[in-house]
Amino acid sequence: MDVILSVPIISYFGGPMLSSWSGSMNLLFFYMTWTTLVLSHPAWKIELVGTVAVRIVFWLAPSLAFLLFDTLIPSLAEPIKLYGSASLPRRNAASLLRQLLLAIFNLALTTAVQAGISFGATTVLRHPLFRASTRLPLPWQILKHILMLYTAREVLTYYIHRYVLHSRGIFARLHSAYAHAHKRASPYALMVYTDHPLPLLLSRTLPVYLPAVAIQPHLLTYFLFTILTTLEEMLSMSSYSIVPGIVMGGITRRTAAHYASGGRGNYGAWGLLDWISGTNVGKNAVEDAQEEAERREPAERTRQASSTGSIVQDALDGLKKGRKSRKRSSD
Ligand SMILES: [Zn+2]
Repeated sequence: MDVILSVPIISYFGGPMLSSWSGSMNLLFFYMTWTTLVLSHPAWKIELVGTVAVRIVFWLAPSLAFLLFDTLIPSLAEPIKLYGSASLPRRNAASLLRQLLLAIFNLALTTAVQAGISFGATTVLRHPLFRASTRLPLPWQILKHILMLYTAREVLTYYIHRYVLHSRGIFARLHSAYAHAHKRASPYALMVYTDHPLPLLLSRTLPVYLPAVAIQPHLLTYFLFTILTTLEEMLSMSSYSIVPGIVMGGITRRTAAHYASGGRGNYGAWGLLDWISGTNVGKNAVEDAQEEAERREPAERTRQASSTGSIVQDALDGLKKGRKSRKRSSD
């Protein structure tokens, strides 16, 4: 617990750049806490606790706040959601609770995988994966490493998402059943972690962690990159049309179109490779996909019901139909 409390990165990076006076006070305070932390805890422990803290502050907490807003006051949420009411979370307590439990399980799992890699690497290399010295990284070095990490993440995300998760095979089936379960809807922020654990590890953990393992930046640079990507993933999955900034707003619209079009394009995080490869999708593709889904819906439902062989689902559907036809005949 003391590690969580003493992780100063959030106040450092998250804190606004105030006046230069309070800025240098912040920096001094930050340097003192950082030095104490590095001298009293092993680097892999700081890495893991810091990563979890970043995920809780920049993804879980805002996601839950958005979820409450979307489900409690949908009339206010709908006008600011891309693709309108189809993008609102289903107001079903049991299914939302299941999603939340899955998200927390996935967070724990990805952290455990990261712990294994980081602890293993520390043992094999005989030095921590990320440099956690009392010397702070230089600004140009931070910038260089962040640019390298972003480039590697974009390439990995694009190719994994396009050729593994939206192709054939088990990963594609799992991704479509979990992340793309609601065909015509764009996502909400909690869904960053509600994919099936396997595609999730491939598409979200690996593209961020693998380049970091290869480049081995300073631990603070790694934290900054984790904060930036976590915040980006959370906002991009929120489907709010009011997400500020040309870049961030664009990423959010692209992500929403990826989901609302049933995964016809927009596989990268930033879109550069989509643009080069011609896999950009916009409103038109979404409308096409939605029309097609509407046409196919009855046939798809029967096929799904028979393929899963779910007796309960069949019985429920039968009951619903029966009730509807009874209602119609009594009208
Ligand atoms: Zn997808």
